[in-house]
Amino acid sequence: MTSGVVTESDEDRKARAAKRVLTGGVLEVEQVTVSFDGFKALDDLSMHIVEGELRCLIGPNGAGKTTLMDVITGKTRADSGTVRFDGNNLADLTEHQIAERGIGRKFQRPTVFPSMTAFENLELSLNESKGVWHGLFRRLRPAQLERIDEVLEAIGLVDERESRAGNLSHGQTQWLEIGMLLAQDPKLLLVDEPVAGMSPAEVERTSELLSSLAGDHTLVVVEHDMEFVRGIARTVTVLHEGRVIAEGPMAEVQSDPRVIQVYLGEQV
Ligand code: ADP
Ligand code: MG
Repeated sequence: MTSGVVTESDEDRKARAAKRVLTGGVLEVEQVTVSFDGFKALDDLSMHIVEGELRCLIGPNGAGKTTLMDVITGKTRADSGTVRFDGNNLADLTEHQIAERGIGRKFQRPTVFPSMTAFENLELSLNESKGVWHGLFRRLRPAQLERIDEVLEAIGLVDERESRAGNLSHGQTQWLEIGMLLAQDPKLLLVDEPVAGMSPAEVERTSELLSSLAGDHTLVVVEHDMEFVRGIARTVTVLHEGRVIAEGPMAEVQSDPRVIQVYLGEQV
């Protein structure tokens, strides 16, 4: 493999810096294209996310939402374009290195261990992120214990601390998984369809949880549930055929003719 050193002229760097000031982006996706056998899942896509923001990402099936998450986390490589996080190009980093830089991802399918308690699941995710510590000190340090309790509080599972994950409700399981990400204190959280299959009360609670994380964290939330997206009421980016077709407040986006067109037949 080549070292992947990218040379950049002073002018280019200044232009890029100026742009970053304008956009203030902690996450900068610039003209990213990803092709699968000639089919462009992402087509010259650009998106900037400001630190502390909660951005909702919507779009019909096949729009490229998951592919975009895959590119940000290094699971899929862009054919062209760049992804920068905290000003650093992620192109040459492995998935693991990208996670270490502070990008955490929650998949739709829960990956908690059902026979372990909520506490133990959180403990495990802490140790996973601190691989070295795990080997050296099996017992949790006080700061780690405190962190787990903080997370249990944040995800509303204090009373379920000693409950087996397998006995939690669907919503509680999703929150536990968000907690497992939080335990590692990521700067950016990518959350794919968090409220799928949840009861209305759980959707409401999830909306509050994600809103409360914004500010301290930056979040990108992919969601089909328009009620939920409206409830969160943040900037919405609409993808269609690998491109951004609209971006702005929900009220603006949902009256955009292009958005109405691609969602024809669906309730926006
Ligand atoms: P979304 O998450 O918005 O529903 P995806 O990012 O999963 O969309 O998919 C975007 C498009 O790319 C779809 O047409 C999908 O079939 C295609 N695609 C995604 N991953 C692959 C892959 N690994 N190989 C081939 N095509 C893919
Ligand atoms: Mg998807």
